[in-house]
Amino acid sequence: MGKKYDTPLLDDLESGVFPSFVTEMKRAAEQSEYANDLLGQLELSFKENLTHWKHGGIVGVRGYGGGVIGRYSDIPDQFPGIAHFHTVRVNQPSGWFYTADALREICDIWDKYGSRLTNMHGSTGDIILLGTKTENLEPIFAELSSRGWDLGGSGSAMRTPNCCVGQARCEWANIDTMAITNEITQHYQDEMHRPAFPYKFKFKIAGCAVDCIASIARADMSVIGTWKGDIQIDAAEVTNYAKGGMDIAEEIAGLCPTGCITWDGSSLTIDNSNCSRCMHCIAKMPKALRPGKEKGATILLGSKAPIVTGALLSWVIVPFIKMEPPYDEFFDLVDRVWEWWDDHGKNRERIGELIERLGFPAFIKATELDLHPQMIKEPRRDPFFFWSEEDIIK
Ligand code: SF4
Ligand code: SF4
Repeated sequence: MGKKYDTPLLDDLESGVFPSFVTEMKRAAEQSEYANDLLGQLELSFKENLTHWKHGGIVGVRGYGGGVIGRYSDIPDQFPGIAHFHTVRVNQPSGWFYTADALREICDIWDKYGSRLTNMHGSTGDIILLGTKTENLEPIFAELSSRGWDLGGSGSAMRTPNCCVGQARCEWANIDTMAITNEITQHYQDEMHRPAFPYKFKFKIAGCAVDCIASIARADMSVIGTWKGDIQIDAAEVTNYAKGGMDIAEEIAGLCPTGCITWDGSSLTIDNSNCSRCMHCIAKMPKALRPGKEKGATILLGSKAPIVTGALLSWVIVPFIKMEPPYDEFFDLVDRVWEWWDDHGKNRERIGELIERLGFPAFIKATELDLHPQMIKEPRRDPFFFWSEEDIIK
């Protein structure tokens, strides 16, 4: 083990009320040269207000173009333990369900070949194994894959799809988010492991509009469970909520975003034709209200964080689609969207940015999507009325 570093600036970060990553790094540093030198370099970076990471070169495993993010120290002589400090992304199980044995297996492999530091989980969803050498990548991959694990996506590829716990634990799930996530992962293995897109593409699957994984803000394509038909009402349970002290007029009808709930003091009615399926009333009165019986999903497109240009939220491209095996309609839609993006996207241009640049009408025409009022993102700015030269009466 190399020398221990004095880390007064990092030590300060241990003083708050929350668990500290510095404390965890120090624990790992007792047995790991990577973690020890990482502490030293980070302290120096804090002192100088300067990063000492250089993003260098492509590293990976044979047959895959992604899954490993290369990172090197720019002062390796000073911190040889982190001369290489590559990140390995491991495809997480849908819904993040693990057995204790599975977690031990991952940790044992990582103790053997890496820094002992992990991030459970990265914002894409993967298990993030932080810091290893180039020569360890193939052995790590061999050990992981021999036990049924696989690498996740990175670079200009489909990123590892991610979902909420869905029907495994949540009564509100309108779709089987975990099955859909697994299906997308298996169906697009090539697109995930061999980057060939203009830029990254993320899927996130939420069981309902509560959207616990924030798919509307963090996925190029959000799949959000919804329903067709009327919300199911149990009148006796509505009465129980009222008797229990709930102010239904204010808390339920008053906060319905489309104003489609009426409460006359004794009975609750819903104008379902104006319901936007936001889940507010159902989440507040789970015993009294349930989604309609015909289940499916709304597909939204385009959100992203503000990396190249500003942040975008997803908007609706398909108000309702059945999400049942073998998901042919869904995969056909994805293929059409990708084909247009492939043909027109510039390097490092996300699908949402491409639509903003070329216009929604161009996207609709190319993908041959049916038009619905729900697809209007901002009324008056993008009405779906477009005409060609020959339509104009002269
Ligand atoms: Fe449940 Fe909906 Fe949250 Fe999924 S998004 S966990 S279905 S509340
Ligand atoms: Fe209103 Fe939302 Fe309930 Fe529909 S789901 S009735 S929009 S609160």
